[in-house]
Amino acid sequence: MHPDLEQVLFTEDQLMAEIRALGARLSADYAGRNPLFVCVLKGAVMFMTDLVKHVTVPLEMDFIAISSYGASSKSSGVVRILKDLDRPVEGRDIVIVEDIVDTGLTLAYLKESLQHRRAQSVRVVTLFDKPEGRKVDIQPDYACFQVPNAFIVGYGLDYAERYRNLPFVGILKPSVYIG
Ligand code: 5GP
Repeated sequence: MHPDLEQVLFTEDQLMAEIRALGARLSADYAGRNPLFVCVLKGAVMFMTDLVKHVTVPLEMDFIAISSYGASSKSSGVVRILKDLDRPVEGRDIVIVEDIVDTGLTLAYLKESLQHRRAQSVRVVTLFDKPEGRKVDIQPDYACFQVPNAFIVGYGLDYAERYRNLPFVGILKPSVYIG
């Protein structure tokens, strides 16, 4: 536990068990293919590195950074690419690896951008899904955990760049961001 957390939602063991199971599903679903896993920086870094260790098909990894909340806890709806992919997307089976889908705005933008670059297929894997927060009609293809409409941190997820290094995930006390 951490003093800024209201509640721990998922322990490291719970995270790892779900991630291992997802790796097995992806290994079966992408059998015979060579997907390009696209990690959305920075929140999905921990998830990406743990997930790919459990995927048995040959794959490549790339990284994209897009603008997110900054130091606020609400989505701005403004999406901008800060660091683009190094590799071409055309003809590839893309697996977008996200930390959390809330409003869906980031994902909608990213998916459209990759489809526009003529990917052969684009699927979305997310560690957390917050279905109550959705503003656009988009669903991840694979989600490890559904979470309540609260602000969560840990295991890659931050508030103002903090808490990413926690090995577990919990709800941040509102007093931390309401100031
Ligand atoms: P969306 O565009 O779906 O609203 O938001 C996606 C991004 O917002 C995520 O990739 C993440 O960076 C951030 N986000 C959404 N909900 C949370 C949350 O509960 N905690 C943290 N730390 N980030 C969140």
